[in-house]
Amino acid sequence: MHAADPTPATGAARKGRVLTGYRPTGPLHLGHWAGNIENMLRLQDERYDCFYFIADWHMLTTHYDRVDELAAWTQGLVLDWLAAGLDPERVTIYRQSDIPEVAEMALVFGMTTPLGWLERVPSFKERLRDMDERHSANFGLLGYPVLQAVDITIVKGELVPVGQDQVAHLELTREIVRRFNALYGDVLLEPQPLLSESPTIPGSDGRKMSKSLDNYIGVRDEPDEIRKRVKSFLTDPQKVRRGDPGRPEVCPVFALHSRFSPGDLERIDTQCRTGELGCVDCKTILADHLIETFAAYRDRRRELERQSGLVLDVLEAGLAKARPVAQETLATVRAAMRFG
Ligand code: SF4
Repeated sequence: MHAADPTPATGAARKGRVLTGYRPTGPLHLGHWAGNIENMLRLQDERYDCFYFIADWHMLTTHYDRVDELAAWTQGLVLDWLAAGLDPERVTIYRQSDIPEVAEMALVFGMTTPLGWLERVPSFKERLRDMDERHSANFGLLGYPVLQAVDITIVKGELVPVGQDQVAHLELTREIVRRFNALYGDVLLEPQPLLSESPTIPGSDGRKMSKSLDNYIGVRDEPDEIRKRVKSFLTDPQKVRRGDPGRPEVCPVFALHSRFSPGDLERIDTQCRTGELGCVDCKTILADHLIETFAAYRDRRRELERQSGLVLDVLEAGLAKARPVAQETLATVRAAMRFG
């Protein structure tokens, strides 16, 4: 493993540079919140040197026919992050496509990464299966891990937050980097996993919560929408009416309670099992908790929306920090490969 130290961020006692990207494909939902946003906030508070970027080129792998919505989705995602509590004074927020060096380095990694490594990525096959019929597999989807490896290495990312089940994904990035370094010299930093909690939050149909499955509850949904969406959730099929004993462990509503109703969890578990609690009331409790939990977030987001130019300012400030690092990395790569 190489190499040059990452560019220090402002502040003396920063920990390693953490890299996380997010595809702008629509509003955040509870699955994102529990799986990513809470981690991003924690890492900010723990004083890691956080580089958080809008992965808009990655968005094209599946949404290349929806570019009319890209600007609004990007704007929305930055506002979501800020409303959640990310502080651009403490973390670097930038947009992938604002750094053209990323594209050049992706071309280089595309040449040095064996095709077989990409074809065997399990998530490639899963993504194909989940894709809408309107889409067909594209080169970008196959090459997603190559671009991801560039995203991390070009800004000298040292740590990538992953759940235990995603360590293998990062291993491919590490393999791509090791191969590059073996071919051209000890040039690139090999990122390490930063193990983080990554719970799978079920959607209304019991499958993983997802925008494309339309089984989600949005974090900026208004109270009426939250109640409507919670009502649509499946429950334990064996519990047909109040009085029937239920099994919280198979119920998607209970999975959300586990995350968002910690104070009521024990009571709900007991009263579900005894039959004392009916599913309609149980869902009302959940909706109340969700409405309350995200009330401050919704207010803050509305306030941020009124600040014209805010998103542009944040992205420009982030770019000013991230791009020089990318330029330096690419210059090193070009020199190592005898270009220029
Ligand atoms: S009472 Fe609640 S936890 Fe039990 S099955 Fe119904 S919705 Fe699920």
